[in-house]
Amino acid sequence: MDFSAPPEHERLGAATRAVCERFGGDYWQDLEPDSYPEQFVTALTEAGLLAAPIPTEYGGGGTGLAAASVILETINRSGGSASACHAQMYVLGTLLRHGSEEQKRRLLPAIASGERRLQAFGVTESAAGSDTPLIETAAERTEAGYTISGHKAWVSRALHSDLMLVLARTTPLEQVERRGDGLSLFIVDLRAAGDSVRIRKTEAMVNHATSEVFLDGVEVPADALVGVEGQGFRHLLDGLNAERILIAAECVGDGRWFVDKAAAYATEREVFGRPIGANQGVQFPIARAHAAVEAADLVRHKAAWLFDRGEPAGAEANLAKLLASEASWHAANACLDTHGGAGFLRRNDVERKFRETRVYSVAPISNNLVLAHIGRHVLGMPRSY
Ligand SMILES: Cc1cc2nc3c(=O)[nH]c(=O)nc-3n(C[C@H](O)[C@H](O)[C@H](O)COP(=O)(O)OP(=O)(O)OC[C@H]3O[C@@H](n4cnc5c(N)ncnc54)[C@H](O)[C@@H]3O)c2cc1C
Repeated sequence: MDFSAPPEHERLGAATRAVCERFGGDYWQDLEPDSYPEQFVTALTEAGLLAAPIPTEYGGGGTGLAAASVILETINRSGGSASACHAQMYVLGTLLRHGSEEQKRRLLPAIASGERRLQAFGVTESAAGSDTPLIETAAERTEAGYTISGHKAWVSRALHSDLMLVLARTTPLEQVERRGDGLSLFIVDLRAAGDSVRIRKTEAMVNHATSEVFLDGVEVPADALVGVEGQGFRHLLDGLNAERILIAAECVGDGRWFVDKAAAYATEREVFGRPIGANQGVQFPIARAHAAVEAADLVRHKAAWLFDRGEPAGAEANLAKLLASEASWHAANACLDTHGGAGFLRRNDVERKFRETRVYSVAPISNNLVLAHIGRHVLGMPRSY
């Protein structure tokens, strides 16, 4: 076993840090509650970082998932939020694996150059919740392609994206053998859709630029379909291991930010005539948080390593997402406690990062469903959902 980081990871980490240094805490604070970090995303794009996992023949960096995850980790570790742009990396896997050669040639170079953003994916619907096969958004075949109608909730970055990956039903639920059948994935061109797509901002605890998206008979050409009609849910599930590994990396980045910030404050802040970090009650939660983050990071790297070798990575990807989101949340609490009242000051960034990292236990998939996956698919217990 070799635990040393490959030079490519060092290089991407350094390149990402160089961009992040230009966007400090003030930048992220000023964006709250719901402004989009346009300049930051442009800077990452210009540095070629958001195109890292796009194959070189389509104008990208041609990296694997492990290397791409270093970029997201570094953004969060630097005090920023990868949520501004992570969807491009989550969604790309689906396009790379299931998109046609024509779709890749048409879309990927423009995405790699930043000319077109693929930052939005619309899966969640209010009534269906985590039970995705119950979604009601439907796509009907027409002579030219499909007409999509429905309502998506919680679509992050839809107002800042040119393209959106949409999951829609192409065969009614009652006509399919298995609940996950009959769903299809489409790349919707939000600019071309005109008034048939309406986007309404959703106010939320974190700045993910989330919105509701109303699809009112959106006409898309036949080549908007990604992969095989009716197999969209399976195509989506295929990409989930990548998504979970990337989320784990973001959590590790957050966790390290909290641990560093807490350790520094515990060393510098003096109360009762000595640094607060000299008290075990302050020091040990930070040390424990550090241990949990580092352990989660090992599982994240193992999952990414398996994924990049094309080996089954489902167990490790789910473990990594669970462990890393729990570790970053514990680190967030240790950091907030260490800061006392100062943790609640906006200018210290702790309260913002605290809110931001909390999301990872719930979205894009809640940890209960991750546990259900581990219970059923890794440990062979009966289905619990
Ligand atoms: C900030 C943010 C950004 C988001 N961005 C996007 C996006 O870009 N695109 C998108 O499609 N979606 C997005 N989402 C939605 C997100 O994916 C969902 O919120 C998430 O999958 C959980 O679904 P839900 O909210 O419907 O919860 P529900 O399904 O209603 O579940 C509520 C709670 O019950 C639990 N639960 C439900 N059933 C079971 C069971 N059988 N066993 C155990 N526990 C269960 C869940 O774990 C959860 O804790 C976003 C959400 C947030 C908060």
